[in-house]
Amino acid sequence: MIIIGSGPAAFTAAIYAARANLKPILFEGFSSGTPGGQLMTTTEVENYPGFPEGITGPDLMINFRKQAERFGTEILSEDVIEVNFSSRPFKVRGSRSEFAAETVIVATGATAKRLDMKGTRDGEFWQKGVSACAVCDGAAPLFRDRPLFVVGGGDTACEEALFLTKFGSKVFIIHRRDELRASQIMRERAMRNPKIQILWNRVLEEVGGDSVVQYILLKDVKSGSQERHEAGGLFFAIGFTPNTEFLKGQLTLTSNGYLDVKPGTSLTSIEGVFAAGDVQDHNYRQAITAAGSGCMAALDAERWLSAREL
Ligand code: NAP
Repeated sequence: MIIIGSGPAAFTAAIYAARANLKPILFEGFSSGTPGGQLMTTTEVENYPGFPEGITGPDLMINFRKQAERFGTEILSEDVIEVNFSSRPFKVRGSRSEFAAETVIVATGATAKRLDMKGTRDGEFWQKGVSACAVCDGAAPLFRDRPLFVVGGGDTACEEALFLTKFGSKVFIIHRRDELRASQIMRERAMRNPKIQILWNRVLEEVGGDSVVQYILLKDVKSGSQERHEAGGLFFAIGFTPNTEFLKGQLTLTSNGYLDVKPGTSLTSIEGVFAAGDVQDHNYRQAITAAGSGCMAALDAERWLSAREL
């Protein structure tokens, strides 16, 4: 069994598979610099059950990794460059090694899109007031009672803005058009909330501050004028990109680019290949749901192997 990925879905699949004596090999990735998935860029995780005092994202991932290793998972710090699912055994080629596998679990996650402009980059204000996950980071002290900004006009933007009303003094949604893309119910909830104001037809131009974010510059796309707003935080909610590029079209995707799985299972379009975590989930995207789906993928894979007496 080969598992591709290193977030909660991949390591949970590895824990289950290793305990079932399947001797999984897990490609944790390398080039991102931080294997471990999205939790590696999160501070405090307070909603993962079992940690009443909270735990940092990186510490949680270290625990996941240790638990997978304890039962005999072999972890390779390599990216998967190419897979071949057209014949059995499947081929998985990493940057340094190549394996044949009877079954593969794809748990490569999704990457939150960010806008690349002055102030938003690593080493500037990224994770110092600029985030792409309000649910992960919004409760941090630096956002308390400060004006907070969410970029986007979809369900995620509305959901994140609503979540942030618990912490910020006021929450602004910055949307590039004059109509939200979000579903009616989310749109109404956001527009009804007295702490939320929508800044229509605006695009972000710059984020600035000292050690943390202090202001943002927006452009009104209708008038062309620039405006400066005091800001305690900026959250991108402009969608996610599922990490499927290395698959090069070998598995069926949904219309929005996620791996298509049979509802309620981890089964992909190719028998013996299973998917777990955010790469197949555009809806929940939580560490706990990813971990749960990793468990499902390992159980599906184990059953698939034993039904074929492999
Ligand atoms: P989305 O629906 O694709 O919306 C992305 C938003 O970001 C759009 O409003 C888009 O603007 C804006 N955007 C994209 N690129 C941008 C850029 N470069 N600059 C400025 N704005 C940009 O993504 P999502 O909100 O993450 O939702 C994804 C899926 O998950 C949807 O199917 C959604 O229904 C679902 N979801 C559901 C819930 C819920 O029901 N509670 C919660 C979260 C997500 P335009 O509108 O102008 O294109």
